[in-house]
Amino acid sequence: MAGLLPEEIARLTEGGASFPSYRLKQIYEWTRRGVLSFDDMNNLPPEMRKSLKSRFRLFSSAVSAVLEDEDGTVKFQITLEDGNKIEAVILNDGKGRKTACLSVQAGCPAACVFCKTGALGFTRNLKAGEITEEYIFLKKHAPDISHIVIMGMGEPLFNLEELRKASGFFCDKEGFNISRRRITLSTSGIVPGIRDMADNGPDLKLALSLTSAREDLRARLMPVAKDNPLTLLKESLVYFQKKQKSRITLEAVLLGGINTGTEDARALSCFARGLDAVINLIPWNPVDGLLFEGKALSPPPESEIAEYEAALKNRGLNVTRRYKKGRGVMGACGQLGGCP
Ligand code: SF4
Repeated sequence: MAGLLPEEIARLTEGGASFPSYRLKQIYEWTRRGVLSFDDMNNLPPEMRKSLKSRFRLFSSAVSAVLEDEDGTVKFQITLEDGNKIEAVILNDGKGRKTACLSVQAGCPAACVFCKTGALGFTRNLKAGEITEEYIFLKKHAPDISHIVIMGMGEPLFNLEELRKASGFFCDKEGFNISRRRITLSTSGIVPGIRDMADNGPDLKLALSLTSAREDLRARLMPVAKDNPLTLLKESLVYFQKKQKSRITLEAVLLGGINTGTEDARALSCFARGLDAVINLIPWNPVDGLLFEGKALSPPPESEIAEYEAALKNRGLNVTRRYKKGRGVMGACGQLGGCP
């Protein structure tokens, strides 16, 4: 029931002992506040709480493990009602900002070669309620979470409808009341999805996992690039930015010896031209067994990262680096999906 919209709660409770509309509203208000039990809904009469408990579940999923890294990252392994497992992470930047990193699919069809989730294959999209349940579990653990990134398992633009509903829940002024500017959706670059988001929302910040702006290399690293070529991708970003008027993040996962050369810097700066964008460099977080064209991937050494960063800055780009956190619990970018 957590994460359902009022009309969905009304539908669910129809028949048998259905409840008056003001009671349904009270139930919805409690779910928006993230209560973990019907017993905590203390403005409902005891017999109603009892009836709710006997007929419904507040959560469809359950936390099966919580793994804490010494750097402050906390990874949640969550079992969905059909037995599928997903992961969600609390990121801690060490300066007081905590961010919930949420999953939108069980597995992922995008199959980026550098990502553990991509290697799992795709099982199914998550429902809006399952996405909001992730957030409620994380928020209970860390009430001071202030930001959300949709960067966990799955490609968000393949599950945009459910994400729209979930973001309505996150931003509800009577509920969690999170500013849309504090929620970032990261995509592998699905052109129709970016245009759909620009036209129909949700109005969230956008990050593009670009990784390479060399057409051929990108398609070898990220199979979705074959159907979403760079020219169309760039056009969709320009369109998005015209409508949404917010800065875009271009993420580049750095793979040692593969996408950090002079030609890569030139292509990336060419792609970024005309966009209001910041480049976020993400040195690859190791995952055993991932190969690129038969060879094991490796993170670039610090000297290679520094050289690439300098090359981009010399071309006038605004560049930041993603802090390396959560590797101790396989909770860093690209490492999700190791549920036992
Ligand atoms: S990086 Fe994102 S889009 Fe690519 S396979 Fe992993 S989860 Fe899917």
